Amino acid sequence: MSKKKLGLNTICTHVGEIKDEQFKGAVSPIYLSSSYEFLDVDVKRYPRYFNTPNQEHLSKKIAALEHTEAALIFGSGMAAISHMFLAFLQKGDHLVVQNTLYGGTVNFIKEEFPKYGIEYTFTNGYKVKDFENAIQENTKLIHIETPSNPLLTITDIRAIAKLAKSKCIVTSIDNTFASPVNQNPIDFGIDIVMHSATKYFGGHSDICAGAVASSSENIERIWNVSKNLGGSLSDMTVWLLERSMKTLGLRVKQQTKNAMKLAKWLNRHHKISKVYYPGLKSHPDHKLAKSQMKGFGAMLSFELRDGLDAYQFQKALQLIKSSMSLAGIESTVLSPHLTSHALLTQEERDKIGISNQLIRFSVGIEDLKDLKRDINQAIETL
Ligand SMILES: *Cc1c(COP(=O)(O)O)cnc(C)c1O
Repeated sequence: MSKKKLGLNTICTHVGEIKDEQFKGAVSPIYLSSSYEFLDVDVKRYPRYFNTPNQEHLSKKIAALEHTEAALIFGSGMAAISHMFLAFLQKGDHLVVQNTLYGGTVNFIKEEFPKYGIEYTFTNGYKVKDFENAIQENTKLIHIETPSNPLLTITDIRAIAKLAKSKCIVTSIDNTFASPVNQNPIDFGIDIVMHSATKYFGGHSDICAGAVASSSENIERIWNVSKNLGGSLSDMTVWLLERSMKTLGLRVKQQTKNAMKLAKWLNRHHKISKVYYPGLKSHPDHKLAKSQMKGFGAMLSFELRDGLDAYQFQKALQLIKSSMSLAGIESTVLSPHLTSHALLTQEERDKIGISNQLIRFSVGIEDLKDLKRDINQAIETL
């Protein structure tokens, strides 16, 4: 069957399965060999070459989900992003990168790029003109993240791809927050899509992994670097990731539905002063989000009214956990000013709109009434 015609949940369930020819079992067998025959074989297999049976097959599912020809699976989201950057940038090249970016990516650029002699510019904002202003003669790659963390700003994917193409610059996107369930950047002209598979792909807060999806040509270019840097994922975890991804569509759709309803409810809540969610009509980029997202995702942020202590609020939650990470089936909250943005000064945080009252919410699959009740009881203790 042609993969293009398969629906989301069918891709999640079936694409890239390994048929168990020997015992006719229902699920993919797991191949743990780190040593394969080399005489008279078509492919010389080795885990760090990203071509064990489980790695190769799960890559097909990820490629199908992101509408690309090929994909690679890594040991973490940061392995995926760093290998991708190093495949497209060398000494003397320049990267244009969005200013609101996952903290680990910011650290990688600031701490490692100088060692390689790679130049970079963080944009002044997330609008197209901010990217245009940052482009130089030697710019080789533009990297974006939308929706962004933690204020859920929306970058115009089509416009960035068009701008880059007009200047022969390659584009990449961190699609972790939206997941392929809600956004397929390749359809809008982006060249490379990367994911922290630790988040929605894994979805159960028990896997650390990453992925990159693109054309076969781009994936080969990344592979040539990756086989040297060695960031592959163990086959045990590849297999677990395959199991998790079978429910990716179901999970993320339910989480997205919950997030939309919760955002509307929080928006009317008298103890909440502001809600950041691209699905709300009041979001400044709601129309843009609607034009490039299939759903508005399951991440949102909100601000407690002045005088309500965000730390105490999180301590008082009973069902909803405080967590450094996100995207599991369980709802979690985090204070950006105590975690991802803790190293900035109060003044720097004020400038980018990260207040001490801000709570980032990763919406899970729980029943909405229970989430609302937990939020209300926590607010009442303040
Ligand atoms: C978590 C995350 C990463 C990094 O992924 P790891 O799996 O932790 O290495 C990159 N981008 C985004 C948006 C993330 O949320």
